[in-house]
Amino acid sequence: MLGSMMMRPLKVADILTYAAEIHPAGEVVSVRTEGDVHRQTYADTARRVAQLANGLRAHGVVLGDRVATLAWNGYRHFELYYGISGIGAVCHTINPRLSTEQMTYIVNHAQDKILFVDLTFVPLIAAQRAQWPDGLMVVVMTDRAHMPEGDYLCYEELLEGQPDTIDWPEFPEETAAGLCYTSGTTGNPKGTLYTHRSTVLHAMFVALSLPAALQPGRRILPVVPLFHVNAWGLPYTAPLTGASLVFPGGALDGVSLFRLMDAENVYSAWGVPTVWLGLMSEVEKQGRMPVGLGDMVVGGSAAPASMVETFESAGVNVCHAWGMTEMSPIGTQGNLPVSMDALPLKEKVAIKAKQGRRVFGVEMKIVDEDGQRLPHDGDAAGELFVRGNAITSGYFQNEEASSAAFDSEGWFGTGDVATIDQDGFLSLTDRAKDLIKSGGEWISSLDIENAVMAHPQVANCAVIAIAHPKWDERPLLVVVPAGEDKPDMASIIALLEPHFAKWQMPDDMVFAEDLPLTATGKVSKLTLRKIYADHKLP
Ligand code: ADP
Repeated sequence: MLGSMMMRPLKVADILTYAAEIHPAGEVVSVRTEGDVHRQTYADTARRVAQLANGLRAHGVVLGDRVATLAWNGYRHFELYYGISGIGAVCHTINPRLSTEQMTYIVNHAQDKILFVDLTFVPLIAAQRAQWPDGLMVVVMTDRAHMPEGDYLCYEELLEGQPDTIDWPEFPEETAAGLCYTSGTTGNPKGTLYTHRSTVLHAMFVALSLPAALQPGRRILPVVPLFHVNAWGLPYTAPLTGASLVFPGGALDGVSLFRLMDAENVYSAWGVPTVWLGLMSEVEKQGRMPVGLGDMVVGGSAAPASMVETFESAGVNVCHAWGMTEMSPIGTQGNLPVSMDALPLKEKVAIKAKQGRRVFGVEMKIVDEDGQRLPHDGDAAGELFVRGNAITSGYFQNEEASSAAFDSEGWFGTGDVATIDQDGFLSLTDRAKDLIKSGGEWISSLDIENAVMAHPQVANCAVIAIAHPKWDERPLLVVVPAGEDKPDMASIIALLEPHFAKWQMPDDMVFAEDLPLTATGKVSKLTLRKIYADHKLP
């Protein structure tokens, strides 16, 4: 028997309408590409978004059209999230750090109708435009005074004169709202097409899980870009809960972030570990944390225990999250229950260095090579599969990739290898393709990296597989030294010895000035493997 409650479709625009009414003074603060700091409230934002949506319609945008963005974190980008999806078009965020070839593939695959770009990216697109779909309109996200020469529309002119109210259209909640391509380290990028339903549900699941950061009056800094899986949902969760957003623009170095956090009294900061490594060196110089910082969310790649400890010991709550583009993206979060509050720091850090527990709406299973489920005992490691309300059911117009991504029960294969313990904490062993196979046994690069990061002379590190005639593969440690003095192998081995068997130790260490990063700010092991392909192990 069916129940008899109203069946109102979940819609993205309702989040902003709610924020404008219930949290009208919530702020959107942006460091602008024009060079100044801009402020507007959620109430102002709703009015501008209505103008934008009316302007989009005036330019012929209709239900289902893809409208792309190539922009930093700022209020105009945030407005596009709502203006585009609100009228039933698809907000397609493009990662500007992708290669020219990947970007061209994406724009053509998505068949974007309009592309909105920040001033910074005008030269980049000018060089590529000839390879993009005919008739693609390009709108520069600035005012008339800053407009570049060329065949571009102006963002502020698109809004000008348009009504600042709108009756948002009704459509089924399964209507597409957003499109985001994975960085595609192998093969072409693959698109995840979010629905209004999945987006709103994901926002509610995450808001439930991170109540300390997501509440009225809190100030949140999304360092994670709006072009990388919707800044982990913050453009939706912040207005939904009444938290304010502080957008950093393009300057993401430790000095700029520290200054902005101080000036804007940021309570919670979200980003990948590489960004926090930058902040940590500024924290060290200043001898203090930014004023008001009480919470940070770290994800995208593994947060080393040493990083968790630095922030936790200064009284900053670290929430280690794991997820994927295909999952909207948040799958787990690492806030500890109140019952663990009294644990000694070391124990807390060890738990927080794990990837956290699943949020509501995400189911997880780990399986062996035959697809058989493994126990959640913190010991058995297997490939991680997920299922849920905000998880992709197939890639956008890509049958081949879609058919390879799911098991026979319809669960999505993450490509990650992990354990899950009795308390539900996920612990990532590796990406399947980064595991090191030595003499038939697996070595986790993440575990070794995590331990090596505690070495005082190590600023950053990565462990990769090197082909070996006898053992198949052996681990090579690549280290970015913290200063002039390089760490020696003996001190690294001494650090690892209590935790690893002899055969798991790296065979050799090399030094690098920097580690290559992917377009989403993760260490690119693929590039490292290429660089050191001919490295001779001792
Ligand atoms: P892309 O694949 O485009 O780089 P995603 O953000 O979708 O971007 O990447 C998802 C992958 O990132 C996961 O499958 C996992 O391997 C890795 N990852 C995400 N969060 C964590 C984390 N907290 N710890 C370790 N790895 C992580």
